[in-house]
Amino acid sequence: MKRLIALGMAITLGFSSICALVLLESRNRDRDQARKAAVNIVATISSDVARNFELYGLSLESVVDGLNLPGLMDLSPKVRQMILFDRAASAKDMGSIFTLNKSGIVILDSRTETPRGDNFASRDFFKVHQGTASAGVFVSTPWRMADGQYVIAISRRLSDANGDFIGVVAGTLRLDYFKKLFQRLEIDPTSSLVLAREDGSIIMRAPYKAELVGRDVSGTAVFKRISESPEGMFEMTAGLDGVKRMYVYQRIGELPLIVSFGQSLDAIHANWWHEVKIIGLLMLGLCATNVALIAFLARALKRRAKAEYDYAVMATIDSLTGLCNRRRFDEAIDLEWRRAQRGKHPISLLMVDADHFKNFNDQFGHQAGDVALKALADCIAAGARRASDLCGRFGGEELAVLLPETTVAEAMVVAETIQARVASLRTLQNGRPDSTPTLSIGVACLMPRTGLEPRDLIRAADDALYQAKAAGRDCCVAVAPQRTETEYLAA
Ligand code: GH3
Ligand code: MG
Ligand code: MG
Repeated sequence: MKRLIALGMAITLGFSSICALVLLESRNRDRDQARKAAVNIVATISSDVARNFELYGLSLESVVDGLNLPGLMDLSPKVRQMILFDRAASAKDMGSIFTLNKSGIVILDSRTETPRGDNFASRDFFKVHQGTASAGVFVSTPWRMADGQYVIAISRRLSDANGDFIGVVAGTLRLDYFKKLFQRLEIDPTSSLVLAREDGSIIMRAPYKAELVGRDVSGTAVFKRISESPEGMFEMTAGLDGVKRMYVYQRIGELPLIVSFGQSLDAIHANWWHEVKIIGLLMLGLCATNVALIAFLARALKRRAKAEYDYAVMATIDSLTGLCNRRRFDEAIDLEWRRAQRGKHPISLLMVDADHFKNFNDQFGHQAGDVALKALADCIAAGARRASDLCGRFGGEELAVLLPETTVAEAMVVAETIQARVASLRTLQNGRPDSTPTLSIGVACLMPRTGLEPRDLIRAADDALYQAKAAGRDCCVAVAPQRTETEYLAA
């Protein structure tokens, strides 16, 4: 039974382990695929943005070159516009290209021959170029134009021959360009695709959230991690929305821009969870079936074991008296005889016989005889109470009690106890004509030794019983001869 349960558990455990391994493998595969997809998305965005910024850079360069032409400012505004800005419209979603003097006022504008004189002195890109000659191509933080459009400025410093600051050439780029670029990708609502300046201000995010455009995220743990290397991958819970994501990021060429794609782990593993639920349910069903089968088998085995036990008991018990049958009695007397011989203990035997039982049967019928025999057997079983005592039906109305490690005197006490029980039973039966018959008991005790056998003990008890019968029945007679069967036969 224990083996069956262990086998069932091993099968269940084996199945569960295989399923767990398969699911783990599938989870790692999903993660790997998500990582590859994220790397591709980041690379695509990166190359698109890099290409457009390169075009934009060339446009700015051509304006700078034009501004260095001698006598440019003496030309008519129309010709000047053509020379300076003829290549300016080549980048997507480009706004105007303009030059600022060293006070930050627009002096040339690609959109108009007569600039309105807007002042950008307070804008970051102007301040940066004013303050340092090494800013190169600078990307500004986003701001909102009068027409409601968000733009960023891409700018270069204008210096004179001595390297002194004389102004800025800048162009605006509508954030719509990034918005459209990002929208082409179907980003999961819980994921986040972000283009940010290297100082941590967000230029664009998908899914789009207007309030996040321009937000400074330099203080967040995610951005700090991103700033550590030009490209990489890591998993982290975002401080802004508490979503755990797998982040893949890279810096866009030499530009001060970073693109990062954070896929929520929930989205990555959504299909996997579905698989887990289905396989989990199947496994649960399988385990339940397994347990039910084991329980069923265990019950069947238990029933069989009980039946086998019952058969074994029945094979050793006399059905009428409830005492041991002759087969069991013969086995027991052999066993106890050898044990007594080894231990040098005496062994006693009571041979018990119902008196005038034939007459009883004749008078009250065989059935009443059976009832009386059972009553006698009960008295005998109650009289021999030690665990090692063994009561059996020797044959017909003859019963026997085997008493290991018992002297003849002790055996006599048992015999008299049995007699007394029968006597009190008869008293209870109040002298009814069919009262339980009396008993004659022959008591024998032997000290097993070489040359003696169990049948010598039986014969001696029989002999004593014969003497009890001869003495008028309803009595106990003890003999303790040490004669062998051969001696008996010779006598
Ligand atoms: P004694 O006092 O000398 O032993 O006389 P007895 O009549 O008991 O002895 P006898 O050997 O002549 O008869 C034994 C009787 O026991 C005969 C038989 O019908 C009866 N007997 C044996 N086994 C059973 C049994 O299982 N049920 C019943 N009812 N009677 C049985
Ligand atoms: Mg008899
Ligand atoms: Mg008899």
